[in-house]
Order: sequence, then structure tokens, then C-alpha cells
Amino acid sequence: MKFGGTSMGSAARMKVAAEIIAAEQKKRPVAVVVSAMSKVTDLLLETLKHAELGDRTAVDTALAALSSRHAEACAELPAAAMPEVESLLNEFRRIANGVLMLGERPPRSVDEAIAIGERLSSSILATYMTASGIPARAVNGADVIVTDAVFGNASPQMDATRAKCQQELLPDLHAGVVPIVTGFNGATADGRPTTLGRGGSDFSASILAAALDAQELWIWTDVDGIMTADPRLVKDVAVLEEVTYAEAAELAYNGAKVLHPRTLAPLVAKQIPVWSKNSFAPHKPGTKIVSHFDEPKGARAVTSMSNVALISMEPANALLSGTRLMARALDALALANVEILVFTSSSYRQSFCFLIRKQDLTAALEALEANLSIELAHGYLKPVEVDENVGLLAVVGEGMRGTPGLAGRVFTAISRERVNIIAIAQGSSELTIGIIVRLDKLDLAVRAVHEECQLGKLAQTGQLSAQS
Ligand code: ASP
Ligand code: MG
Repeated sequence: MKFGGTSMGSAARMKVAAEIIAAEQKKRPVAVVVSAMSKVTDLLLETLKHAELGDRTAVDTALAALSSRHAEACAELPAAAMPEVESLLNEFRRIANGVLMLGERPPRSVDEAIAIGERLSSSILATYMTASGIPARAVNGADVIVTDAVFGNASPQMDATRAKCQQELLPDLHAGVVPIVTGFNGATADGRPTTLGRGGSDFSASILAAALDAQELWIWTDVDGIMTADPRLVKDVAVLEEVTYAEAAELAYNGAKVLHPRTLAPLVAKQIPVWSKNSFAPHKPGTKIVSHFDEPKGARAVTSMSNVALISMEPANALLSGTRLMARALDALALANVEILVFTSSSYRQSFCFLIRKQDLTAALEALEANLSIELAHGYLKPVEVDENVGLLAVVGEGMRGTPGLAGRVFTAISRERVNIIAIAQGSSELTIGIIVRLDKLDLAVRAVHEECQLGKLAQTGQLSAQS
């Protein structure tokens, strides 16, 4: 089971988490992964930024906020974990002071520091549970998840991780002790601390589930499951009863906030099913993520993403082949660890464009300019164009494969709202149609597609027939 930031957000929420764990623990061994208390990772990162800028006052204010947030939770729980909390806070203070002195945030120290959010929450929960008669032990993810050295966005090395998990966690599980593992962090084989990317606790949980050959993974959040659209944008959304790994991964990748995009990969080989459930309404069924459907179900959900930038590139003349230009551009982006959300190219002029996250824009442009400096200097390549006034809409569903007319309906619905389509991408897997529109029209387009494809109704009737 994995509990997210809001599910760990206060003493009251931790009590609920403990109850949920205890109920399941009566039936079978449970291993737990926790996020930091909500907003704590943001606060830790901000503190380090203030430290880098030499702003001692801001650092002190943030440290005080951090300390009172956790002290408050401890005060409301019977067995205070306060000594351990103090010592973790000191550990963070020590790193923040180092950053203040250096005027620099070395990536490795950042990873070590921000994982303290999870170490705080796991320690508070484990102490509370043990005192309430459910033996539990706080475990540092750095001791069980082995990763590469890509600080801030590390990837697991599964064989080494498996060995460590089995050695560290199986004895607990056999002895009826619940390991409360920190999400989000790991360490390289030689012990340097890493993190798995923002929102990475989901990923930690799936890594552990695979490494421990879990029967199931339950991800506890603050929403009822995976929905047909963002309920803040669309009125008649419905919770999807079941989605496939591929659908859930596409939804996460294209902006649905419910799962970290990399979560499902470790589970696919062993076909470990995942439940996305609401810790604020644990009796609700949630969404089950499964390997495949016997019957395809058409379009399932529509997502959107607004913090994106569209980069367009084009050779200036025939001296530079478009293919070579694409290769150079992609190579540059890969080296800079920039993820491409959408990529499309057109024929004769060999121009192409791709969509990335806004947070990656500076790194992407620097990498492109470095890798293509000669071509740019010689005028073989037109100046790189950047458009930040765009948003991505994605329609996802395995059953769209081989269904004629669906793309047509989606485009018609969007154009009926007088929204212009800037770029389109649909891969041959036909799992997702990605559509780039002007940012101020994004919500309108999402509503139009949700309505046209009757996503809310389809999900609901699916649920009704499954219940009857
Ligand atoms: N606490 C981390 C974050 O906020 C990881 C997580 O919550 O999944 O990014
Ligand atoms: Mg989270």
C-alpha cells in the first residue's frame, strides 16, 4: 500500500492510514510506502533555494514552518516520535546550512535533503502504529531501492533492488511487522542518495511491489480513482472502474495527476494489479488497473496539460537533411534528460515540432543550441521557434485502435467550439490522440471532447452493468 501526501497530511490522516493498514494486515502481510506530508517536499525544495541565494532569514522561517508542521502531528498522536523527528530536522538543517555556505545546491545533496520529508512521515507513522499495537518499522528507501546516479530523476536497478528488498523487508513481513518505507528516494549501488522525480512515491511503491512479488498494489490518494477527465474542468466526470496498464500510463503521462507516469512499468511483467483508491472514502471501489481487457472499450478519458512549450525546427535549405536535423535534436534532448510529450513532423519541408514541459525549456534550448551551433551559425537551420502559449489535450483508450470515425468526432467537437488545432499526434498503437491547441482554449476543447465521446456516461453505464 502506498499513501500519498494528503493521506499522510495530518495526525488525523495518519490515524486513518493506520486503520486501513491494520484492517488489511489481518488478512495478509502488508508493506507500506509513504509520501511526505502534503506540501513538505515543496517546502524543503524552497528552503534549499533560499539557502542557495544566501537568504538566511527565509531559511529560518521555512525551517520553523517545517518543524511546527511535524511537531503538531506528533503532539496529536499518542506516542510522540519527536526525538527522531528532531534528529531528522537537524539533518536537514545541516544540509541547508551547507548550501548557504557554498551558495550552491549540489544535486546529490538536494536529493539527500528532500528525502527527509518522507523519512519524517514514515518515522511518525511507524512510531504511532507500533504504539497502537500494530508493530511497524520505518525503513529508509535508500536502503532498499538501488538506482542509477541520475540525481533528481533516478531509475531503479531492479536486480539489486530485489535482492535488497528481500533481505531487508521479508523478515519483517514474516514476523508480522509492517515496514513503512519512505517513497521517493533510493541510493546508487555505492550509497549516494537519489530521488525518483517529483511525485515519485508511486514509483517507489511499484518498484517494491515488483521486488517483493506482491499480490496487489493499492495506491491511496485523495480522489475516488482514475476519472474520465479532470473534475475541476468537466462537470459530469465519472470514475473508471477498470483501465489497462497502457491506458493508465498514457493518462498519467499526458497530465492526469492520479499516478506518477513511471509507476506501472515495473508491474507489467508480473501483471501485478493496482488499485487507485481514496483514503478519504475507503469503502468506494476505486479504479482497478489491469493488464488487458477482453473487450475493447473505445475512448476512455481525456486529459490536459498546460505547463508545456512547443518547439519548432526546420532546415533553412536542402544542405541539411531533415532526418539528420531530427536526429541531432533528439540526441541533444536525450542528453539533457528532456522528455518529449508529443513529436510530429511534416513531409516536404522537413520541419518538425515537439512538445516538452515548460520546466525543461531552458535546458532543452541550451542543449539544442549547443548541439546545433554550427548549423545555426551557417544558417543551415532556421532559428528555433518556441511557443509557450499552447496546451496539450489527450484522448486515451485502447479500444480506439481500429475504430474508424473516432478521430473525426474528436476533431469535429473541437472545431465546433471554434478552437484551432495547432498540431496532432497519434502513434500507430492508436492508444492516444494528442492535440495541441491555444492555451486559452484548452479547457473548452477538453469539455467538448468529453461531451462528444460521452466519456462520463460510458464510464457510468459500464459501472451499472458491472454491478447488476
Ligand atoms: N514527496 C514527493 C513529492 O512531493 C514524492 C511524492 O509525494 O510522491 O514529489
Ligand atoms: Mg504525491
